[in-house]
Amino acid sequence: MKRRRRYQRQNTAQRITKAVAHIRLIEANPGKLAALDALAPVYLALCQQYVTLFCTGEQPDKFHAPVFSTPLSERWHRVAIQQAAGIAQSWRTNRANAYQEYLDDLLEHQEQRVDGTLDAQTEEPTWKEWDVPTLHQTCIQANVNVVVLEPAQDSTFDYWLKISTLAFRKQLLVPVKLADYHHKVLEGKTINTSVTLNKRGDGWWLTLSYDEVVPVQTEPSAPVVGVDVGIANFVTTSTGEHFGTFHGKLRERQKRDREKRRRKAKLRKCLEKKGVKKLPSTSSKSGQRLARHVRQEINRAVNQCFAKHPDAQFAYEQLSVATMKYKARAMNAYLYASNLAHIPKQIAWNAAKRGVAAIRVKSVYTSQECSVCHYPDRANRLNQQTFCCQVCGYSIHADLNASINIEHRWGDDELRACKDRKAVKALLMQRHQEWKRQNGWP
Ligand SMILES: [Zn+2]
Repeated sequence: MKRRRRYQRQNTAQRITKAVAHIRLIEANPGKLAALDALAPVYLALCQQYVTLFCTGEQPDKFHAPVFSTPLSERWHRVAIQQAAGIAQSWRTNRANAYQEYLDDLLEHQEQRVDGTLDAQTEEPTWKEWDVPTLHQTCIQANVNVVVLEPAQDSTFDYWLKISTLAFRKQLLVPVKLADYHHKVLEGKTINTSVTLNKRGDGWWLTLSYDEVVPVQTEPSAPVVGVDVGIANFVTTSTGEHFGTFHGKLRERQKRDREKRRRKAKLRKCLEKKGVKKLPSTSSKSGQRLARHVRQEINRAVNQCFAKHPDAQFAYEQLSVATMKYKARAMNAYLYASNLAHIPKQIAWNAAKRGVAAIRVKSVYTSQECSVCHYPDRANRLNQQTFCCQVCGYSIHADLNASINIEHRWGDDELRACKDRKAVKALLMQRHQEWKRQNGWP
């Protein structure tokens, strides 16, 4: 059943929802949005109650019967339950993934201890239970039952937003004016009926969205290109090409930024000791700029990769935090890791918007498995760059070896069915034995 759904998704069409954000709600006259301001904290508190319930007690359920009392209408209550269910669902999924990664890490740690390759400094991985998400910012994912977007006729505005309020049957009418940019994006599109309302320090903002259906145009028989993700090379394809890198200029900038932050932290400590109340902030503008710049470079690399392989379909890694940490063993593992996570997202997005088939495959052992004889061993990695199989002696660029493994995992149902790291290793060893037998290996 699951496989059929996946198959269909890959071969018919991909629906992408595009957001049109930053539409300011106009305060036509002072106090117009007061009713919305009054609703916000009540909504947020209710939503939080359900988030906590769905994260700690019951399974997230959009259709859960109302269990908390609130001055909000039944319809608003339902909206809060739906939004909370969504938040809790992704929290639960992320937590479950992280926990599975922790178990994998632990197993790897034990494996290393047994085979004597454990670094003396490496501590045993520990699990820290996650906190239930806390809603800080007002974000309301409203549907047509509580907020209606209506085209404005005969008016200087583009739309009217009809918002139900705390007061019974009293609706708030807020004019919406789109910028030229918004007009251009939305031209000829059908706007989705669900809208998002955000309250930030300076007022209320509206986000609209529309769906675009892009048919998948890749032939099922198209060649599969495996994509490996890394730092030295953002993207390495099984066709032997590299796109983008973290090294060089980006790394220099990152080093400078790190120095700057260090100096700032020192200054803070110094001032703190002297009893200064107002301390300079630790957040770094240049750090944010750098992260943005890295994302742009990643986008460019992924674009180039797709442009270079117009008729291919792509297999890429289902990167886990554990693999990212492994791939980002350099100093600022977390900075690298957060940027690395952007690469698979960008691959998925590029595939969707171009109508290209792309699937994620398991990433365990892709960097350790020999792409010829399947022998999986950490020792196969001589260093970051060189792969040399300890059994068959096959030697190749490490990223290229990984990308070939990823290519091979396309359509490998046996491997996909493996539950954990252990099962994958057992399967690879079994294939390795098979390879040995077929090639008359002693
Ligand atoms: Zn080998």
